[in-house]
Amino acid sequence: MALIVQKFGGTSVGTVERIEQVAEKVKRFHEAGDQIVVVVSAMSGETNRLIGLAKQIMEQPDPRELDVMVSTGEQVTIGLLSMALLKRGVQAVSYTGSQVRILTDSAHTKARIQQIDDARIRADLKARKVVVVAGFQGVDEQGNITTLGRGGSDTTGVALAAALKADECQIYTDVDGVYTTDPRVVPQAQRLDKITFEEMLEMASLGSKVLQIRSVEFAGKYNVPLRVLHSFQEGPGTLITLDEEESMEQPIISGIAFNRDEAKLTIRGVPDTPGVAFKILGPISAANIEVDMIVQNVAHDNTTDFTFTVHRNDYQAALEILKRTGVEIGARESVGDIKIAKVSIVGVGMRSHAGVASQMFEALAKESINIQMISTSEIKVSVVIEEKYLELAVRALHTAFELDAPARGAE
Ligand code: ADP
Ligand code: ASP
Ligand code: MG
Repeated sequence: MALIVQKFGGTSVGTVERIEQVAEKVKRFHEAGDQIVVVVSAMSGETNRLIGLAKQIMEQPDPRELDVMVSTGEQVTIGLLSMALLKRGVQAVSYTGSQVRILTDSAHTKARIQQIDDARIRADLKARKVVVVAGFQGVDEQGNITTLGRGGSDTTGVALAAALKADECQIYTDVDGVYTTDPRVVPQAQRLDKITFEEMLEMASLGSKVLQIRSVEFAGKYNVPLRVLHSFQEGPGTLITLDEEESMEQPIISGIAFNRDEAKLTIRGVPDTPGVAFKILGPISAANIEVDMIVQNVAHDNTTDFTFTVHRNDYQAALEILKRTGVEIGARESVGDIKIAKVSIVGVGMRSHAGVASQMFEALAKESINIQMISTSEIKVSVVIEEKYLELAVRALHTAFELDAPARGAE
């Protein structure tokens, strides 16, 4: 008998019919003798709808009140799924995050899970009940409802699996696993049988939203066996694993991630003196704005150009700060560009291969795509390019690194 946590995402519970289908599936696992905890998201589109309502009242909704109302999406689906199970003769009981007591910090809209009280769930499982828990939400010490950030139901699932020492955490979604890149952008993308936590963490943090980053962090930290599967199609899915491959044929690149979430800021003609980076980025970080990539170029006239990227949501605030800094330190000008995209190649195989970055640059050059910024780490290379070339770049890299699935009908 295994203890399994099964998380179903928004599209998988997007209609009453789908919720009934999920109930059928859960029932089959339960009848086979497994102990089942189900975590569900809100019905697809519901979280966006709720955020839209809030924004009609306040352009920048109050975070505490936003959490109160945005968390209702998941409360609807736990009730519906539990009913669908009861109707099928399966003992089921639903809990909100606060009823379980998924304790988080008080950082509304992006709270972190600190502790999970598993007593109630364990007692229910012992009584052969299926426990249905609302994803994406928790409660802080003071009893305030919190949410875990977009895509946070994945993290609820993995955190529950860790707390309960589950045999596996299964993330059911609308794709049948983790692919070499988003299959919506590259139809030739291939499903991976396995990917390491480290690679998955890079893929998620560089833009592949198939799993929320924190869920992968949790799974790695507590060694939770994690699998991504299709909700309504049979198949092995993708296993996220610790082991860095026994096979000799580890590909150099496992996947390609991309995002359109960043914006670029440049300050030109800054007198090149010690401490210049601090003068520019100090006020940005004091405003709680996270900086991602940074490039500094020194010109002949002893001035420097300094470019960095921030999240698009922080773009306006960052540009205003930069303009003020520019005046203070006597820079020539401060400008910004939001029409950029970041494309990254990820793979642990890079560690043992030289020349991966130049292979990437060559593939982009062949498509006449200009690279604006570059950053590298041991297992990834990221570039910033003009947003309009994003899909072309991803497809070109997918082909260049031989990730394309063989054409149908070919051997
Ligand atoms: P859910 O609502 O089930 O949480 P999400 O929309 O959050 O589903 O995540 C699934 C989606 O992630 C897929 O439909 C796919 O378009 C996208 N995606 C992005 N990158 C990848 C990838 N490398 N592999 C698989 N899916 C990906
Ligand atoms: N419903 C939340 C969202 O749309 C959480 C989730 O689906 O994981 O972000
Ligand atoms: Mg998701």
